[in-house]
Amino acid sequence: MPEPLWLEEVAVELPVWEPAPPGARLACDVLVIGAGLAGTSAALALQARGVDVLVVERDGPGRGASGRNAGFVLLAHVFELPALRRRAGAEAVGALLALARRNHALLRERFAAAADHRSSGSLMLSMADDPDEAAALEAAAALLRESGAEVTLGDPHPALRGFGRQLALREDGQLHPGRLLAAMAGRVRRGVRGRVEALAGDRRARLEGGGEIRFSRALVATNAHVAELVPALRGVVTPERAQILATEPLGARVLEPVAYANWGYDYFRQRDDGVLLVGGRRHLFAARESTAVAEPSDEVQRALDAYLEAHLPFARGARVTHRWAGTMGFSPDELPLMGPAPGFAGDAVHVLAGFTGHGLGLAPVLGELWAEAATGRASEADRRSARLFDPARPRAA
Ligand SMILES: Cc1cc2nc3c(=O)[nH]c(=O)nc-3n(C[C@H](O)[C@H](O)[C@H](O)COP(=O)(O)OP(=O)(O)OC[C@H]3O[C@@H](n4cnc5c(N)ncnc54)[C@H](O)[C@@H]3O)c2cc1C
Repeated sequence: MPEPLWLEEVAVELPVWEPAPPGARLACDVLVIGAGLAGTSAALALQARGVDVLVVERDGPGRGASGRNAGFVLLAHVFELPALRRRAGAEAVGALLALARRNHALLRERFAAAADHRSSGSLMLSMADDPDEAAALEAAAALLRESGAEVTLGDPHPALRGFGRQLALREDGQLHPGRLLAAMAGRVRRGVRGRVEALAGDRRARLEGGGEIRFSRALVATNAHVAELVPALRGVVTPERAQILATEPLGARVLEPVAYANWGYDYFRQRDDGVLLVGGRRHLFAARESTAVAEPSDEVQRALDAYLEAHLPFARGARVTHRWAGTMGFSPDELPLMGPAPGFAGDAVHVLAGFTGHGLGLAPVLGELWAEAATGRASEADRRSARLFDPARPRAA
């Protein structure tokens, strides 16, 4: 599998956990399955509260979507904000934005230096030929302003081609996903490599190779793969592939904010060192991109090349150094699932998954929130917000 730029750059920093020995018999209070943003965040918060927590990870920390993403730290999926407001109501939007702001603060305060975090702002761009998209951005701007955000609407940067209107949001940011995961996983005290094959109702997890882990509570934080362990979520959290290319450093630094376009299907950012990242185009090959195979495909990568040529002319002719893919977990209403796992009796198995392409914006704070609830310390306001993510909520998109 081609290595993302991020993982190549942190090859020596990412912790390498020892495999659980074949036939191992392990025990812990809380078992966290999956060492991405969600699992490591929950584990760190539990650890800090004195809980005996063990993290088990199939491929190594950060090797799922969390080490393969574009590193955009966003307040919301802005294009979809008006639709979310109509569907879920003003209170839900307010609660989501409040959580996302806590998430921004958490990343800034705890991981800014380690993860190269910068409050660069974001741009949301409508396509020149899509007035509906421009209207959605206007409506989103109004909602964001209501919540106190500093938003400006205007014309796109002159170096960009083919875009209509631009919404600029000051408080968003960007980071290095590999460095973030190296920092988070590096602080986890008990982590092992291993694939959980199945969870039994009697608080036991079976490991590939015959091992077993006993727990009081398990948190399934396996993102796109959650239904493998929680079959009731089959068809609820679904795997969707996303792909990126990265160029050699460009001579000119054109873009500081991260940029999202075309209803969020396409995105690009330029790093401080001049490297340009371009991602998206999966909607052109929707059926084939609905897969858990995290391999880049020729057709999407060619479409990304063409996108760069058409819309980012300042990068024309730049050599592409990296092409990679990752698997996102989508939920029908685009909100993650957090709470008791459907299909398991009692309270022993929980899920935290389905971030629908926006885990950097919510997973760290929800990992903490879940840990607070699990240790009986969640505030009344947080318990109310958590209902938004109830895995048993109605499934209407
Ligand atoms: C190309 C791409 C670009 C993206 N860009 C952005 C972005 O810019 N901003 C943003 O907010 N989001 C982005 N995302 C989405 C974001 O990366 C995810 O929402 C987030 O990483 C999800 O974190 P997670 O911890 O839930 O999942 P993951 O990081 O996928 O972690 C799940 C872990 O579970 C492990 N696992 C699975 N099954 C088992 C098992 N049976 N036993 C043990 N371990 C198991 C996996 O190996 C994996 O490490 C992007 C995603 C992709 C793929």
